[in-house]
Amino acid sequence: MRNVTLFLLGMAALAALPAVVRTQEAGYPVTLIPPGKGPYTFPADYQTPWEKIQIMVTAKMSPNLFVLHGSEGLDPAHPDASGGRVMVLFGPDGVLMVDSENRQVAEKTLAALRSFTTAPIRILVNTHVHGDHTGANAFFAKQGALIYAQENLRNEMLRQPPRANGQPVPAPDMAGVPLVTYTYNPATQGEPAVTFHMNGETVDFIPMMPSHTAGDTIVRFRRGNAIYIEDFYRNFGYPFADQANGGSIKGMLEAIDLFDKVSGPETTLIPGHGTLIKKKDLQPYRAMLIDIMARVRTLRDQGKSLKDVLAANLTAPYDKTTMGDTQQSKDRFITEVYDEVKDFPPVVDGKRTMPTHPQ
Ligand SMILES: [Zn+2]
Repeated sequence: MRNVTLFLLGMAALAALPAVVRTQEAGYPVTLIPPGKGPYTFPADYQTPWEKIQIMVTAKMSPNLFVLHGSEGLDPAHPDASGGRVMVLFGPDGVLMVDSENRQVAEKTLAALRSFTTAPIRILVNTHVHGDHTGANAFFAKQGALIYAQENLRNEMLRQPPRANGQPVPAPDMAGVPLVTYTYNPATQGEPAVTFHMNGETVDFIPMMPSHTAGDTIVRFRRGNAIYIEDFYRNFGYPFADQANGGSIKGMLEAIDLFDKVSGPETTLIPGHGTLIKKKDLQPYRAMLIDIMARVRTLRDQGKSLKDVLAANLTAPYDKTTMGDTQQSKDRFITEVYDEVKDFPPVVDGKRTMPTHPQ
């Protein structure tokens, strides 16, 4: 009798466990410090005071999956919160990081990480090539991180496009160049290229189509029900497709549509910048991209110059709901669309040879 009771109790306990753990742990996610809303203004000769910027734990997706981000109001590239978000999974199997933040704050990023874990740093994945996401790569490689990324990202890092003033960019620190690469394959869109089983989590590196750049990766944490979606989406400032690094507005639309496959309605999506969102929040952004592309295409087909198209102020209907809607952000977005709707150069080794526009 006693054995039967134990057996039944055991069955009841098993039945109480879901087949797959899909829901976030109770009480998560938690936002500790949301990004600022602005508006922000900086004098023309302003230089970012890196010494004043703090790197803080700004959100927690689970008891061992934290988000780091920089302080508000100091960095004109990202005034709502300096730099690009970093995610840290930690525990007995070591640390897995997503992105490495700006080089200038490397020690502070490490100190923030060391405020909650002493585990060895083992894995770093880069979501895209920009310095606010890869700047401290070499620093964290020296801490022990093995760096993963799309092969295109590695190519972009090794052969940076010349600066706007025509000056070549200095050669990268080879210690910060990804050692492990994988590629995006349209036939297996949305499938992970790499999966890690660490610290009770399952982490998928999912290579993306050319969207923010040609080397993008999103990082899914299955148990924490969270995905780092990098910068193809943004809700502070207008969209940015880095076309010289292979980015594409059309690819950003494809990226959005992929979320029906890779995420659920309650999955927390963590952009590189701006506020945390859910899948449904991608839809107004998608509609804006489609609307602006159609309007710019019409004007371009009519033979309008870039100057005319910029003067048409096509983003006006969106300014009220777009934080960080500076003139520079609008003009960059419209110029990207103008270049994309006609004679858009192909991606070669992670790059496109984009036309230049005289000021
Ligand atoms: Zn970024």
